[in-house]
Amino acid sequence: MSQTETFEFQAEAQQLLQLMIHSIYSNKDVFLRELVSNASDALDKLRLESLIDKELDADTGDLHIELVADREQRTLTIRDNGIGMTREQVVELIGTIARSGTAEFVSKWQQAKHDGTAELIGRFGIGFYSSFMVADRVVLVTRRAGETEGTRWESAGADTYEISTVADAAPGTAVTLHLKPADEDNHLFDYTDPAVLRRIVKRYSDFIAWPIRTPAAEEGAEAETLNSMKALWSRPAAEIKPEEYTEFYRHVSHDWTDPLETIHLRTEGTLSFDALLFLPAHAPYDLFSRGARRGVQLYIKRVFIMDDCEALLPEYLRFVKGVVDSADLSLNVSREILQQDRQIQTIRRRLVKKVLGTLKDMLAKDPEKYAGFWREFGQAVKEGLLNDQDNQAAILDVVQFASTHDPAKPTTLREYAERMKDGQTEIFYLVGEQRATLENSPHLEAFTANGVEVLLLHDPVDAMWVDMVTEYDGRPFSSASRGEVDLKTETADAPDAAEYTGLLGWMGTRLTEKVKEVRLSTRLTTSAACLVTDAFDASPSLERLYRAMGQ
Ligand code: ADP
Ligand code: MG
Repeated sequence: MSQTETFEFQAEAQQLLQLMIHSIYSNKDVFLRELVSNASDALDKLRLESLIDKELDADTGDLHIELVADREQRTLTIRDNGIGMTREQVVELIGTIARSGTAEFVSKWQQAKHDGTAELIGRFGIGFYSSFMVADRVVLVTRRAGETEGTRWESAGADTYEISTVADAAPGTAVTLHLKPADEDNHLFDYTDPAVLRRIVKRYSDFIAWPIRTPAAEEGAEAETLNSMKALWSRPAAEIKPEEYTEFYRHVSHDWTDPLETIHLRTEGTLSFDALLFLPAHAPYDLFSRGARRGVQLYIKRVFIMDDCEALLPEYLRFVKGVVDSADLSLNVSREILQQDRQIQTIRRRLVKKVLGTLKDMLAKDPEKYAGFWREFGQAVKEGLLNDQDNQAAILDVVQFASTHDPAKPTTLREYAERMKDGQTEIFYLVGEQRATLENSPHLEAFTANGVEVLLLHDPVDAMWVDMVTEYDGRPFSSASRGEVDLKTETADAPDAAEYTGLLGWMGTRLTEKVKEVRLSTRLTTSAACLVTDAFDASPSLERLYRAMGQ
């Protein structure tokens, strides 16, 4: 036994631990879901490692998770014979909050000024630290596959933890919880009771692909397997209960709210694959930051290959969560190879069509639900207009914009088209940084006076796609701030140009540095003047964007 070293938890980790220790969150059962999920990930990783690295000295003959309760000692041990952790990994992974889900939890929690904590714990996965909701001391012993020595980690959840080396650790990881004193009146929460464990595993972890066992009650009896282990995506959709989908979503997404929509796709034929995808109800806090996690999990013949497989979905659908399982790929794939793989590209095309088709259906069948989706993810979806040529029409079918038609309600392009006036051939829009500025823009005056609707585009991405997408269903997009707008409807009597030659000439010379030309306009009704661009100039917001990029 080596000497014991004491480490301090990272500051945010300390806060989170305090939160767990004093948690009033009623559903403490979720700690088991978290530890089982970690054990399952560790088994996935070991299986994959051993397939790729034939030299790896690891026994993969009976990969499983074991729950061992001791009623006298009031301990519960969650043991796996998976990949394990090195000493450095224990310090890095268990001592700090590196994981996006947990970091998000902490930032949301701080924003909420520590109120509503219980609700937040329900909404986020809180990982390993959730052990401290039910235990006042936690001991983790682990040995990484291929290593000879193991590592012991122990903490009572205060500011520090202790680490030592153990010579005889079993391969994999064992987490032992020294449970808080039992609530004598409530045996539902006695985590040393096999019936309680069975109930929690059924509820949260039934689909875990590895057996979750409890030791035999008597000598000579068989160990009991608590979960059914069926890969949910490979079962017929008609057999699956909504709760099963929801639990699975939570497992893959680390989001503990219900998914907004579930997409279960099973295909046979030249290329067979199963996909189980989810649209979340809420955007993650880092949806628009670089380096955010994106993509779905990839399995090959039920073997977990990777998280966040970017090759399977384009970036603008990065909020989609779930699993894709293909029988037709080689297990030796890497991220780099996947990008080029023909089969992956075919799967990706099918998935994109399916997701956009699902959005179109939702829009038609449940506009209110769709409005919620669009508020959360609309900005991301519009990015597809910049780089997904093939699906441009399908994306235009599901986009929504603020419009002058009804300030309270966004419109689709189809609805806009249906309201177009006789003789109106173009779809008019105005791009800017803020909706309020657009609504008060003098450019709108002539349109308002003529009862012509204008789309008000105020997301940063709008300034970019309007220059790349030329039309919707045969109707060209046209900026309401361009110089010559032809409303093809009645306008005020044209003023007599001759009367104004002097004034226009004078203004032209005064403003020669600032504008190309000063001319008479019929587009204004109350404002005296407005700035317009030439038909082929960059729009002002695009100019601002170029300037911001230093061009
Ligand atoms: P998450 O699982 O979302 O990453 P956790 O707090 O649950 O967050 O776990 C943190 C990390 O610790 C995991 O990502 C994993 O690398 C490591 N870990 C936790 N439990 C185990 C385990 N049983 N076996 C191997 N590694 C583990
Ligand atoms: Mg975890």
